[in-house]
Amino acid sequence: MSAHYDAIVIGAGHNGLVHAAYLARAGLRTLLLERRHLVGGAAITEELVPGYRFTTFSYAISLLRPEIVQELELVRHGLMVLPMVTTFQPGRNGEYLLLGPDRDENYHEIARISAEDAEAARELDHRIARLARALKPWMDRIPPNALSDDPADAAALRELREDMDGLDPEIRELLDLFLTSSAAEILDRWFTTDLVKSLYASSGIIGSMCGPRSRESGIVWLFHKMGSYDGVPGEWGFHKGGNGGFTQVLARAVESFGGEIRTNAGVDQVLYDDDGVRGVRLESGEEIEARTVVSALDPRQTFTRIVDPHHLPDDLVRHVRDFKYQGSAAKVNFALSDLPTFPGLGNDPDL
Ligand SMILES: Cc1cc2nc3c(=O)[nH]c(=O)nc-3n(C[C@H](O)[C@H](O)[C@H](O)COP(=O)(O)OP(=O)(O)OC[C@H]3O[C@@H](n4cnc5c(N)ncnc54)[C@H](O)[C@@H]3O)c2cc1C
Repeated sequence: MSAHYDAIVIGAGHNGLVHAAYLARAGLRTLLLERRHLVGGAAITEELVPGYRFTTFSYAISLLRPEIVQELELVRHGLMVLPMVTTFQPGRNGEYLLLGPDRDENYHEIARISAEDAEAARELDHRIARLARALKPWMDRIPPNALSDDPADAAALRELREDMDGLDPEIRELLDLFLTSSAAEILDRWFTTDLVKSLYASSGIIGSMCGPRSRESGIVWLFHKMGSYDGVPGEWGFHKGGNGGFTQVLARAVESFGGEIRTNAGVDQVLYDDDGVRGVRLESGEEIEARTVVSALDPRQTFTRIVDPHHLPDDLVRHVRDFKYQGSAAKVNFALSDLPTFPGLGNDPDL
């Protein structure tokens, strides 16, 4: 055994980084272990082609909880989220919509296609923002289990029902629509033109294995509106320097609370003794002790690979093995030797 810690976190994606920062902040001697040479997981910015830096996968921020920003003092460590000011929606026959930060200008841009849809878009945006505000307190709570006998679950369900029953009927109707309809069904109710519908439809399919006519796309759409940028519900932003800048901020927070980070340190096995978890063995063979081990890897790697399944309940392992994993997101990164300037797109090379 080379060292002893109170807690080990496996995997330095943004979830592992946040975990490690909270554990270190709580006063635990914490070690974060990352297999790659850099932290960040899918939220990284790297020089994939010499001279060109890419935010390889995840690029936009919205669902980061404001409580985390405040409690981990992320602004002090360099957090700088810039607004995602433009949306370009191409259509058929050269039609397009180019939306920016000014709501009135956006109204006129949509009105260029349809005055009726511009009115509807303004009203729908307003109602979604009100709904997101009403649901926000529930975002940070563990959802009650509707099938459990535990009185705490029953009480939380009652509270949830009372909260939802107290919603303004207009907002409640929109919530019911999101929970029971596809994005396409909602869009057909609100808009008349395909171009405006397609502008909104993407929020219903991002990161999921569904199309705009799939039943669950309404919930996916609502979920993507549950975040905020600078306190404005539903808005998204970019981190200065790419999303890798964001995870570097988290790494500084971990270290500021006294946590240690080791890269090139893949975990091979979680180790047990008669008292339970006793630490981890790295792929190099090195063993590190800690009575608390948190895995920030996906459930399949955690429960079928790095933890020996015989330490786990059979049904858990079976469910994890049965769970269908299908990739739903891909990204194409371009290296441009000459950065074209797009009027109105604000692509300031310093950012
Ligand atoms: C193409 C693409 C685009 C996306 N765009 C967005 C977006 O714009 N906005 C958004 O919010 N989300 C986006 N996402 C989703 C987002 O990237 C992920 O939800 C998020 O990065 C998951 O973070 P995580 O910390 O849970 O896991 P990960 O980021 O996967 O981190 C896991 C870490 O564990 C490490 N690891 C693995 N095995 C071991 C081991 N045995 N020992 C030690 N370390 C190990 C890995 O190297 C990795 O660093 C996108 C995803 C993809 C694929």
